[in-house]
Amino acid sequence: MLRPVAEGVLIHESEFCQSNAVVVQGRAGVLLIDAGVQGHEMACLANDLSGSGQTVVAGFSTHPHWDHLLWPAGLGAAPRYGTARCAATVRDRLSDAGAKARIAQQLIPPDIAEQVPLDLLGLITGLPAGTAQIPWDGPRVRIIEHQAHASGHAALLIEERGVLVAGDMLSDVLIPMLDLSGSANPIDDYLAALQLLEGAADDVDVLVPGHGSVGGADQVRARIDQDRGYVQVLRDAGVPDDARVGSSATFGEDWLPGVHELQLQHLAQRRERDGTPR
Ligand SMILES: [Zn+2]
Repeated sequence: MLRPVAEGVLIHESEFCQSNAVVVQGRAGVLLIDAGVQGHEMACLANDLSGSGQTVVAGFSTHPHWDHLLWPAGLGAAPRYGTARCAATVRDRLSDAGAKARIAQQLIPPDIAEQVPLDLLGLITGLPAGTAQIPWDGPRVRIIEHQAHASGHAALLIEERGVLVAGDMLSDVLIPMLDLSGSANPIDDYLAALQLLEGAADDVDVLVPGHGSVGGADQVRARIDQDRGYVQVLRDAGVPDDARVGSSATFGEDWLPGVHELQLQHLAQRRERDGTPR
């Protein structure tokens, strides 16, 4: 079911990891950001839209992770955009014939794997590097690209509506997950991204994270501070005082166990390899 969060902006929440698809109403149809995860949920979304006479005229994927790259045929064939880096990463990761099978086996939780339609996975068009806004006939959507969480990650600011679509940043249920494979300085990159989002905070009334609860204006700085705190503790190999660490009460023990420990280990190995102090 679609739920309004601001004038002309609605969200559709997935059971998987509290994922939020975002619908922005434009003049001739809607922009759909991160369409959703399970087939029946996206069918429900497509139904809600067609039932109210709205067609999808553009799509956008905030970053190149499978749960943000899905698209069921029922949503139509609108252009689906991402940043240039996002599109290049997707092309690279899906370049061999076994890629989708690998994603299904290794990344998608087994209990929902059959519910996730991979046919149209990742068919996105990269916008030219430095593109400032999504090209579509609707409210201006500013692209805030940064190098945190995943290569070519973008948050989107729907300026006239005061809505920040944060992608996989600023979640109240997941700790910051660093881009450990794609970044030479994942900690610095993450902190720089938070600073960039902080620069937009005054314009935000509603915060929509890729996973988790929608927040009001007060939540923007609160979550930035919380995430910065976590990343600094991670950098210093300290013990985080953060309810999001550990097996999540929201998603059960089998999903993303020990992300914090994995990040700690990875950073320690990296320091050893590079011979750099903390
Ligand atoms: Zn992600």
